[in-house]
Amino acid sequence: MKETLLASIAEEVMSCQNCKLGATRTKAVPGVGSAHAHICFVGEGPGREEDLSGIPFVGQAGRLLDRMLIAEGLSRRDCYICNIVKCRPPNNRVPEPSEVAACSLYLYAQLAIVEPEIICLLGNTALRFFFGEQYSIGQVRGTILVKDEQRFMPIYHPAAALRNPQYVQVIQSDLRKLAALIQRTVD
Ligand code: SF4
Ligand code: URA
Repeated sequence: MKETLLASIAEEVMSCQNCKLGATRTKAVPGVGSAHAHICFVGEGPGREEDLSGIPFVGQAGRLLDRMLIAEGLSRRDCYICNIVKCRPPNNRVPEPSEVAACSLYLYAQLAIVEPEIICLLGNTALRFFFGEQYSIGQVRGTILVKDEQRFMPIYHPAAALRNPQYVQVIQSDLRKLAALIQRTVD
């Protein structure tokens, strides 16, 4: 069962020391949501509140994301939410390439289990992990990218909207597009 497979990955993540982020984390943050989700959200890495709780996107940015999802008729139960790295980088710095590489097997395994219709990439770290450093969220947000027959939609990270409130409307309209896409696939 998909649930069992995700749970066994979470177990591995919680005791993982495959990169130096394992030494400084409080709790690892494997991921949450439905094993049968049509949409997977992929962020960058846990922040302070995620590190304390072990749950992704529970801080200020996560609460904003929740509100925006609900406004489009989506909720965490319909989605699977995780991050590129599962342990918090000190002071929320961007994860280093070696850390991203060490953690990537977990992300690939999670995505292979959930098999989402579409993967929503939150911010540049997630976008560049899949598409390369030449990609920039400001240029491709709200568009559908395809790689290895998997569809992706990059959007601004909700933390960016906390710093730039004008991004809230942009994220909201991209999420509306995402929700409509899923609706069409499911119907
Ligand atoms: Fe392991 Fe990933 Fe945590 Fe590094 S960030 S210790 S690879 S779970
Ligand atoms: N930002 C992220 O990228 N991920 C989280 O889980 C929380 C904040």
